[in-house]
Amino acid sequence: MTEFDLIRTYFSDVGSRRQDVVLGVGDDGAVLQPPAGHSLVMATDCLVNGVHFPVDAPADAIGEKALAVNLSDLAAMGAQPAWVLLALTLPDADERWLRQFARGLGRAATYHQVRLVGGDTARGPLNISVQVTGFVPTGTALRRRGARPGDAVVVSGTLGDAALGLSLWRGRADRDDPDVAYLLDRLHRPTPRVSLGQALRGRATAAVDVSDGLAADLGHLLAADNLGATLDVDRLPLSEPGLRFGGRERQWQAALTGGDDYELCFTVPRSRLHELDAIASRLGVALTRIGHVQPEPGLRLIRSDRTPVSLETPGYSHFPEVR
Ligand SMILES: [Mg+2]
Repeated sequence: MTEFDLIRTYFSDVGSRRQDVVLGVGDDGAVLQPPAGHSLVMATDCLVNGVHFPVDAPADAIGEKALAVNLSDLAAMGAQPAWVLLALTLPDADERWLRQFARGLGRAATYHQVRLVGGDTARGPLNISVQVTGFVPTGTALRRRGARPGDAVVVSGTLGDAALGLSLWRGRADRDDPDVAYLLDRLHRPTPRVSLGQALRGRATAAVDVSDGLAADLGHLLAADNLGATLDVDRLPLSEPGLRFGGRERQWQAALTGGDDYELCFTVPRSRLHELDAIASRLGVALTRIGHVQPEPGLRLIRSDRTPVSLETPGYSHFPEVR
């Protein structure tokens, strides 16, 4: 198949049709109409074979995840996602792989009501770059900056599942076991907290998505204001399958240092904590208060009985030598 055939066959109708797409896939550029009174929010991520997903990961999961990780960044900004660009290099035009990849990408795009509006394909090592644009009412974007001493630190969902899922994938665990299937799903099909991010506008003082382990990502948020925090590791939200497979100690370590959870971590004034219950039940997502912000920089970890604990490994980094 020629490049033109590939694009037309698999990428000309991906995601939800949107009124604000004046001109989508097929021209030299997309023409898009942002709503009045809003600012654009843009994020991009590239996924490299064997680095960001296992080489033997299913193609539909790669398509879904390539979009989900970008949507997670927009969620952390409180943005409503709208438009997607895709740049794909492939070693060969493997039609079956492409069909499955496009299906996974399309599933996530339709679910989140975003539209693929353009892109490029070329021959090369498998590499997937996705760019997502969304918008926020002007002046309301969530940022990493803004936390204040005394704010509660809150996380969504459960943490550490994807790290455990990766070790189960590599270890060829029994994929028919429901616990294993759940943990592999958390690895391959993360759930970007798009609606939660928008609900946090005007409530959270700062937010970040958890892509590289809670310790690293919360660390970025705190460092933005030269602040610190104390976290109670016994309060970290862990899934039942994670606890059954990993055990409590291993799972809270995975929560802090594993990657790929794509949950949100945010700070909120204690006076507004009660507002989170309604949001959690409306959106069907757990929101767990795990600690509080302090003026002294650094992350302090304690057990519920207040004994201090430490991490075994630093947060995941693609470039460990520059940490
Ligand atoms: Mg991020």
